[in-house]
Formats: sequence, structure tokens, C-alpha cells
Amino acid sequence: MVVATGKSILNGIAIGKIKIYKAPVYDINMNQIEDVEAEVARFDAAIEKAIKQQGILYEKAKKDAGEESAGIFEAHQLMLEDEDLQDAAKEIITSQKRSAEYATKTAFDEYAQMFAEMDDPYMKARSADLLDVETDVLDFLMGNDTSSMQGTEPSILVAEDLAPSETVKLDKSLLLGMITREGSSNSHTAILARSMNLPSLIQCKDIDDSWDGKMAILDGYNSCVYIEPTDDLMQSLSAKHAEDVKKLALLQELKGKPSVTLDGTSVHVYANIGGPSDLGSVNENDAEGVGLFRSEFVYLNSKEEPTEEQQFTAYKRVVETLAPKLVIIRTCDIGADKTIDYMHLDKEENPALGFRAIRICLTRKEFFKKQLRALLRASAFGNMGIMFPMIISKWELMEAKALLEECKAELIKEGHKIGKYQLGIMIETPASVLVADDLAEEVDFFSLGTNDLTQYTCAIDRQNAKLERFSDTHHPAVLKAIQMTIDAGHRHNTWVGICGELGADPTLTETFLRMGIDELSVNAKSVLPLRKIIRSTDLSK
Ligand code: PEP
Ligand code: MG
Repeated sequence: MVVATGKSILNGIAIGKIKIYKAPVYDINMNQIEDVEAEVARFDAAIEKAIKQQGILYEKAKKDAGEESAGIFEAHQLMLEDEDLQDAAKEIITSQKRSAEYATKTAFDEYAQMFAEMDDPYMKARSADLLDVETDVLDFLMGNDTSSMQGTEPSILVAEDLAPSETVKLDKSLLLGMITREGSSNSHTAILARSMNLPSLIQCKDIDDSWDGKMAILDGYNSCVYIEPTDDLMQSLSAKHAEDVKKLALLQELKGKPSVTLDGTSVHVYANIGGPSDLGSVNENDAEGVGLFRSEFVYLNSKEEPTEEQQFTAYKRVVETLAPKLVIIRTCDIGADKTIDYMHLDKEENPALGFRAIRICLTRKEFFKKQLRALLRASAFGNMGIMFPMIISKWELMEAKALLEECKAELIKEGHKIGKYQLGIMIETPASVLVADDLAEEVDFFSLGTNDLTQYTCAIDRQNAKLERFSDTHHPAVLKAIQMTIDAGHRHNTWVGICGELGADPTLTETFLRMGIDELSVNAKSVLPLRKIIRSTDLSK
């Protein structure tokens, strides 16, 4: 038996086989080749397979997400069939005697660059598509079987690191738990793991390829993983796992009961979600609403910028399904660790302090308006809140509000119905805390993004695993900032919630209640445990 330790981000136990997850490596053969004809034939075969694959993906996407979303794979097919592009690659093979991999990379990159330099935003966006299909052709040339990266049976996935864009694409039904060598506890990958209720270890320095396929127990309570555990350990941890399942079952009794303290103080307990696929967990865990719908996952899940119609469909589905419950949708918070190829964001020295969230939206107004229009249209179908992230100044809020009004006027003129909605902002920077009185006058609610608020208040990069020792989620400065925000909000009849990970910290629930918090929005699995704590808290004592 091997024991390896890490940092646990969810108390729970996962038992199953290990699957080593490796992103494919594209090691291109730069040498000259002998048999030009054979190389051209390899290229032709890879192109043919890639075209066929797009057809399969088209059918799958049509079934899962509808015809419009599937259209992208038709576009990919057309790109691969382009004779000029194919000829350009073959010319490199024949005249320069280079490998099919080298020719593919060179020709496709050149075409992608050409598209990226075009003025028309639609054509510009095709550049990312070309890079996407280039990867597909390279996978076929190099024999990378990306479809089997997760294996076929549910397993504990082990990886060096996982970006949010990789994590959202994982097949959840095949995941028992996750272990990474890198990662930090407040990263979006960790947040995703928590929302999927996956026992996970980060910073597990001893992960090893030899674990692949071996039986293991991930013990989130003790922050370790046992590879090929002894029978005794298997027995005791299986029993602990069964106990967890039983405890979870007991919490079911709290469904339908209010989140109210013994002395009668009510607080709303909402869930955080990433899209319509999380609707089931909101209902299963009896959340009273959604306090944070991270709309950027709608963008991350898409191969190209989602259209107004696609966004409208996603937002409407959530709002309509949960009505009359409140659903707060945060406008696109892209940037920092959440990068998207088709957004063509420049690499930055300090991405967390950079071009992200509302800063992108107020710069790329047409992009932002598409989302605002989709949100306003969806507002007619339920009880919605619209929330802007990363606001630091009042002028940003006023500009975002003006754009919202502009979209509203356009939509009314076009004959669309718009419902009532609440407007709010995230308070996730010290600047917004300090000017909270000014901001509160302009909104219905504040939602404290404690993940970023901690990062910016303490100057601790939430992505940097080396800083965990210095990171204190209970830092008095953060708690003081929370109290200041609640007080400022209440001075202006603005209700205040927490949607960062700290909201689910059971050791702080009573503190937040005493501070006067109105709402806690947490990962869906924490809703009932939190309700249990609230119902046994007595603030009169
Ligand atoms: C936060 O910063 O606390 C938050 C809820 O937003 P995100 O984690 O998506 O940055
Ligand atoms: Mg944030």
C-alpha cells in the first residue's frame, strides 16, 4: 500500500480505480522525411478521419444542445474540406519534405493567423476554430486517443493540474474524485469539484504514473490517498463512506423546512450553479433559489461565442424551471484563470489584476449587449436577478446600467416582453467595500465574492499554491470588510449576501448571522448542512 498526502478540498471518501489523466503532448517531428507520397497519404487519412469525427460530434451536439449549437461542427467540417488549406499543407510535405504533423501545424497556424487579423469579428472568431480542427488532425496523425482520457468506468482522476475549461468538459458520470499535483483551494477548478461533490486532493506532490488502473481510496477527511489499500483499511473506510451516505439521507428531513434560527432570524440559503445542467442539484438539495449562476461557464462550455439566442435558451431554462424562486445570474466573469480561446485575450503579467469580468464587458460593448439582451428576454420567464462582477467604481456600475437600459429600449421596440428583475453587484474588491455606500444607492442587492475579496484584501493570489500557508480565509480584515458591506447595504435598504466559498464555512455561519447577513449562496451540497446549523443556532444567547 502506498499513502500520498495532499490538501483536501472536500470532506468525503471516494473508492475506485485510479485513472491518470494526461493532456496530449504535441511533439512535432521537425526532421526531413524520405517517403513524400506516404506522408501525403497519412495527411489525407487524418483529414478524412477528422471530417468524419466532426460529423459524429455534430450529431451528438444536436441531440444534447440543439441544432444551432451543433452548427459549429458543420463549420469545422467545411474547414477541413477546404482544398486550398489541404493543398497548402501538402505543398509543405512535398516541396519541403516535411512530416504531415509539421505541415498540418504550419499550414493551419498560418490560416488561423490570417483569420485572426481580419476586421470582421465573425471571421476573426474562425481562427480559434481552425486551431481546434488542427488539434483534431494532429491527434489522428499522432494516435492520441482523446476520447479515452477519462477511461470508460467511473474512476478517481489523477492529473498534474486541471484548468476550469478542462474540468467543465469532463464526463461527470465517470468521476469519483480528483487528485492533482498542483492547484489551490480557491481556484475555480476546486470550486467546480466542490459543486460536483467530488472528494478531491490538490497539491499531492507524490502522484505517480504507476498508479494508473490501481484500486485506491481517496480520504478527504485525512487529506490522503491510499493506493492498493489493505483489506482492513478498505473495510473501515467503506464503513465511513456508508455513514456519510446515511448522514446525507438524514438531512433529507430538512427539505421544505425554513432556514430560520431558534430565535426566529431568517436567512435565505441559495445555491451556486454553472448552468442548466446544475438544475437537478438545486432541487435535490432544496435550495431556496440561485444566488450565483456563473454565466461564464455557458461561454466556457461553448466552442465559439454563444449567440444571444443560445444564451437566452440557457438563462430562460434555469429561470423558468426554478420560478418563482429567485435566480441571480452574474454577467460574464471571464479572464484571470477562466480563459477562452475565442475571446483572443492577450497574455498578461497579472491576469487577476487585469482585463477581466466587467472590464472586458465595458470595453467590448457589443459582446456585453448580447448577454444583457439575452438576460432581459429571459427575465420574462421567472424571478431573476442580474449581477455585475468586479465593480470597483460607481461609473462602471452606471455604464453597465446604461447599457442595460439601452438593451431594454431596443427589446421593447422589437416587441419583446421583459419581466421584473433585481439588480445587484458583486462586492469582491476592497475598493467596492470602501465605496459600498455610494454603490448601494444604485442596486437592490450586494453579493460578497469572498474568494476574490480575500485575494485582493490580503494580496494573496488565489491560484498560487505556494501561498496557502499565508492565506487565511478567516483573516480579520476580510471579516471586517464583510461587516462593513452588510452595514453599508442595510443603510440603503440593499440586501447583502455571500456567494464566495466562505459562505459555506460552517464555523462562520453564526458569525455571519450575527453580522446581519441576508443570504448565503453555497454549493448545492452544502445547502442542507447549512440549514441544519442555522436551525440549531440561537442568536438571543
Ligand atoms: C468570488 O470571487 O468569491 C466569487 C464568488 O466569484 P468567483 O469565485 O467566480 O471569482
Ligand atoms: Mg470573483
